Amino acid sequence: MSLVRLIYASRATDKFQPTSVKAILTSARRHNHANQVSGLLCFNQHCFLQCLEGPRAIVSQTYERILADDRHEAAEIISFHYVPRREFDDWNMGYLQDSATIRAIIKRRNGRDVFTPQDMLPDDALGLLKDIRDYMTYSLEAP
Ligand code: FAD
Repeated sequence: MSLVRLIYASRATDKFQPTSVKAILTSARRHNHANQVSGLLCFNQHCFLQCLEGPRAIVSQTYERILADDRHEAAEIISFHYVPRREFDDWNMGYLQDSATIRAIIKRRNGRDVFTPQDMLPDDALGLLKDIRDYMTYSLEAP
């Protein structure tokens, strides 16, 4: 099966409310799991950075559905590549809370400690997503 990885950034609209997080998580988990789409959605109150991995047609359909969602706008594709393997085993969401660790991760990848994914280059965007994936894994597994 040919795999692709799509990374995009977008901006939250005023329709994105605290309750939206659970609704997006629920529908995305359901659709992505059923379609073998993996990846990670990182977000704060203002911006989203998302990676979607899976078969090309499915990733394209998923992105098309996400684009139509009025809880965000100004989506920009940062990268779209064929890849030999997945970086993300499952699909997940990570809230970028304002902590020293998250600020340091953002600064390393984004050049400053403000999350502006629209400014990011492909390698930095993937690097940030992997750092957050590792941080989430470590946080969950830490005693
Ligand atoms: P349902 O799953 O039945 O809807 C679930 C709930 O979300 C319902 O309560 C519904 O009222 C609510 N809802 C749906 N659309 C809106 C809206 N525009 N405004 C307010 N409430 C709404 N979906 C995926 O499948 N995979 C993803 O990876 C994914 N990532 C997303 C990333 C972002 C930044 C955003 C904003 C959305 C994402 N979504 C994702 C959600 C996607 O945009 C669609 O809302 C969802 O896939 C619709 O699924 P459904 O038609 O089965 O609706």
